[in-house]
Amino acid sequence: MTDYRRLRVALLGAGAVGSQVAALLLKHGDELADRAGASLELVGIAVRDVDAPRDVDLPRELFTTDPEPLLVGSDIVIELMGGIEPARTSLLQAINAGADVVTANKALLATHGPEIFEAADQVGAQVYYEAAAAGAIPIIRPLRDSLAGDRVQRIMGIVNGTTNYILDRMDTEGAEFSDVLAQAQSLGYAEADPTADVDGYDAAQKAAILASLAFHTTVPLEAVHREGIRSIDKQMIDDARHAGYVIKLLAVCERLPGDDGWEAISVRVYPALVDRAHPLASVHGANNAVFVQAEAAGNLMFYGAGAGGVQTASAVLGDVVSAARRHIAGGVGVGESTRANLPTVSIGHVTTRYQITLEVDDRPGVLATVAGTLSDGRVSIATVEQTVIDPADAAGQPGPTARLVIGTHKAREQDLSETVQRLAESGVVERVVSVLRVEGD
Ligand code: NAP
Repeated sequence: MTDYRRLRVALLGAGAVGSQVAALLLKHGDELADRAGASLELVGIAVRDVDAPRDVDLPRELFTTDPEPLLVGSDIVIELMGGIEPARTSLLQAINAGADVVTANKALLATHGPEIFEAADQVGAQVYYEAAAAGAIPIIRPLRDSLAGDRVQRIMGIVNGTTNYILDRMDTEGAEFSDVLAQAQSLGYAEADPTADVDGYDAAQKAAILASLAFHTTVPLEAVHREGIRSIDKQMIDDARHAGYVIKLLAVCERLPGDDGWEAISVRVYPALVDRAHPLASVHGANNAVFVQAEAAGNLMFYGAGAGGVQTASAVLGDVVSAARRHIAGGVGVGESTRANLPTVSIGHVTTRYQITLEVDDRPGVLATVAGTLSDGRVSIATVEQTVIDPADAAGQPGPTARLVIGTHKAREQDLSETVQRLAESGVVERVVSVLRVEGD
């Protein structure tokens, strides 16, 4: 066996991901040493409760409730506790003590990323976070390194497995949102409090991380427009299918070219209609995918498991090997590039296509009024489909009712929302059923 230099590796957290990282580190230690060029010695695992049951058997003597000695004496510190504190303080402490750090903590990076990267820059350390945006899917290194010579124009990501699972089952089984959510909770796919997933918070954190890297700009979480999937019902899913679309919760990070070389970015999370022929439409179940459009490389798609303990451990261990190689090679870490410093525009300035579904009075002149209102609002119609609603389905309406499904050309969000408001007040529209963006052109 080669006599490698020994690197001390500390682990903070041994939950779903951490316990798998520890197990793989111990099981494949020799192989990892050959790849890293260093022997990776797991010196300790900090947890809250050393006696808590673990997903895998791990040597009890490694466990401690006191992370302090691990933070000051290690070459590589892996943070898998989650949450903001004490993860933030622990990472800063480890960096200042000279360690390279590995984390999968999207909540922390989306809110305190600049502080952590700055601390690492100050001491020449490196922060690795491949598992923070899409679990096992390699996307951080492709954006940071492989595409460093290109210009990313747009990223569209399905980065939350729980919402994709819910929307996929609604689409394939015709189920209602609340029923699928309840089942997902009972199967452990969704948390008892599903807010972080279904209201788009988790996806927004990942969008902030991806956009920061892709556009070499610090994107604070507050700059990410966020909408969740609670408003998506069976009717909207059926209408989408009828029109050749599927509804996906997307994280969209987009470069917006302006006049005279001026550029800005938009970062947003919302449920959107995706053409069924688009590669993202075939991402089923709890899988994730990130579709990247770059100026020279063209379209790239990264697909796989966006979560799961052992799957995520794969990405974490890749980071550990990278950190070890860097340690052996020496030199200072290369920080995140934020020099482009592009401004982030609000959602009102974004242009997309839309599909507007209205219930209107079924009488002469109504279509002309709707078309005129859209045109006055600078919203150009691409397609219109009109169906007469069965009176039994139009409960409470005095006269005959029709359903209008209007596909628009690209329009500015602010123009669109003001126009929909005017339609709602026009006297001919009984109900605005839904307004959905169409993404993926
Ligand atoms: P988890 O199952 O909840 O495990 C958290 C671990 O951290 C537990 O071992 C816990 O100790 C320990 N811990 C929590 N607070 C602590 C504290 N104050 N002091 C010491 N130890 C503490 O979490 P997870 O699912 O493994 O996720 C870990 C990180 O990976 C999170 O940032 C998460 O966002 C990220 N991530 C997870 C997945 C996934 O599929 N799970 C995917 C991608 C990224 P006890 O065991 O003693 O309670």
